[in-house]
Amino acid sequence: MSGKAQGDRFPIAMERFLQTMSALDPVTEQGVKDAILELCEIMRVAKAVTCFYDNEMFEQLNEGRSVVGYDNGKPCRVVATQRMVTSIMTVIVCDVYMAYDEPEWSEEERARAHLVMKMIQTFVSRSRLQKVVDRLTYRDDEDYPNTRSYLRYMERMGRAGKLRGMAAVHFNLKHFSLVNRQIGRGAGDIVMHSFFNGLALLIGEAEEDGILCRQGGDNFVAIVRQEKLDAVLNYLKGTAIAYDALHTEERVQICATVGVYRIPQDFQYNNPSDVMDKVMPTIQAARSSTVTDVVFYDEKMIISKEKVMRVQSLFPRALETGEFQVFYQPKVSVTTGRLAGAEALCRWFHDGEMICPDDFIPVLEQGMEICRLDFYMLDHVCRDIRRWLDEGKKVVRISVNLSRKHMMDYNLLQRIIEIVDRNNVPHGLIEIELTETTTDVEFLDLKRVVSGLQRAGICTSIDDFGIGYSSLTLLKEIPWNVLKVDRSFLPEDSEAPDSRRNVMFKYVVAMAREMGLECISEGVETAAQVEMLKANSCDLAQGYFFDRPMPAKDFEQLLQQMQMRNQESL
Ligand code: C2E
Ligand code: CA
Ligand code: CA
Repeated sequence: MSGKAQGDRFPIAMERFLQTMSALDPVTEQGVKDAILELCEIMRVAKAVTCFYDNEMFEQLNEGRSVVGYDNGKPCRVVATQRMVTSIMTVIVCDVYMAYDEPEWSEEERARAHLVMKMIQTFVSRSRLQKVVDRLTYRDDEDYPNTRSYLRYMERMGRAGKLRGMAAVHFNLKHFSLVNRQIGRGAGDIVMHSFFNGLALLIGEAEEDGILCRQGGDNFVAIVRQEKLDAVLNYLKGTAIAYDALHTEERVQICATVGVYRIPQDFQYNNPSDVMDKVMPTIQAARSSTVTDVVFYDEKMIISKEKVMRVQSLFPRALETGEFQVFYQPKVSVTTGRLAGAEALCRWFHDGEMICPDDFIPVLEQGMEICRLDFYMLDHVCRDIRRWLDEGKKVVRISVNLSRKHMMDYNLLQRIIEIVDRNNVPHGLIEIELTETTTDVEFLDLKRVVSGLQRAGICTSIDDFGIGYSSLTLLKEIPWNVLKVDRSFLPEDSEAPDSRRNVMFKYVVAMAREMGLECISEGVETAAQVEMLKANSCDLAQGYFFDRPMPAKDFEQLLQQMQMRNQESL
């Protein structure tokens, strides 16, 4: 094709090239490539290569990336080279080749070729810049897609009605700081990246497949297809990740607490918080649950929003006016049937109605109000004990529940001792029940508090043992006095003696004994369970089979009876 003949097509092709190049977001690279291909044909070019170097040093070392290319496969020779150094010192080099049998360019053609090369360089330079800006905007310091990229995705897919039938999955990696401590921060980063990449691969690359982003720290958000949800949850429940490329058998198990919202088919999108508002309570519930790591959204969570507000607004006055009462649930020796202690459990009397802890404790635990309630309970238990002692009653040890929320309180120990001493109660009559902890930071606090209580002669028990994060480290490294086996560990009557639960129960009790811990079974409801405790030498029990939690008045009578029986047996 001669210079004159190409003259007809060139302006049109050039125009097309300029249009695709200057198209606003997103510039489709394919569109630009097609336009360049057309120009190459018109210009009788056999091959064109554009190379991008981060700086001149990389150019000298020939370490660059080929960013735009064309090659019709014919044997060819270089006919033009153009080099450009941008304002940020990146280097873009364009090489153009012509087939050996192709006649030379005319002057006009050469000028045009240089114009096209210049345009390509400008395009490459701009799109590199665009990529850097994108990286800074949509990725975090460690190169994970960030919340902004999640929001952009939600906006795009939501507006297109494409979020319907997807699932929003928020998750938090469990004890990741412990992982960091075990294998080092560098290896920890590698593990997090490869855990992330594995999940991203599972979710899929296409926009319709979903997205995975890091919100910060060890918190992540994802949108996934519902067909893939099971596989994704399986992955999050626990996946072994290698942390050393050379020794791939060195692995750590990574798992997460997960909140899930299945976006319904009739979902109406307004803004990203439509989905966020639904999934936030699920991840909170999952993080505070000791029973499960995965919580699915259900309508009740929204109703609970009203409940949260109601409880939070009524609480301060209820505490002042004494609407909270201490109920006592006896702990009994299964061999002698004697009263061995009691647990103080809170009841809220409001408008003539009794509200049980499960309806308000989780709400109070969302903030710090629970701490005020716990101190109130401890104070009232101490007052009761003092009164009983003053009345000459023989008193048993009373346990009081303390929420994990207290662990942040550096003065917790002094506060507890201050309340007990203010009421002039012997330390040996108080026991503090604490639940297992989730993070290693909490673990250290827990250890400090329990050891301090121990030194002060106040007993501690590990509550709800068997659900959640039961770990031997927790038992071994913290000087507990009592292990309270959760009722979910207690086998049901119909269970075979060699059922998994039976065997586990047996070992937990034996292990507690081995470690010199008192062991008590919670939630004992049947005579058969009592027999089972006896058979396994677990002497203490608490549960409806013996007594339900009762008002202080009723419990006093039990103390009285115990005293009478003791006197009779003397
Ligand atoms: P928890 O510490 O595990 O307390 C035992 C719960 O099991 C009590 O429920 C008790 O009534 C119930 N229970 C006892 N025996 C049986 C049985 O044989 N069968 C069944 N099904 N249940 C039995 P409650 O009083 O509703 O308390 C629920 C939870 O609320 C407690 O669980 C504890 O975690 C929390 N809680 C109660 N009072 C306080 C408090 O003053 N402070 C704090 N932080 N938490 C409290
Ligand atoms: Ca308890
Ligand atoms: Ca318990």
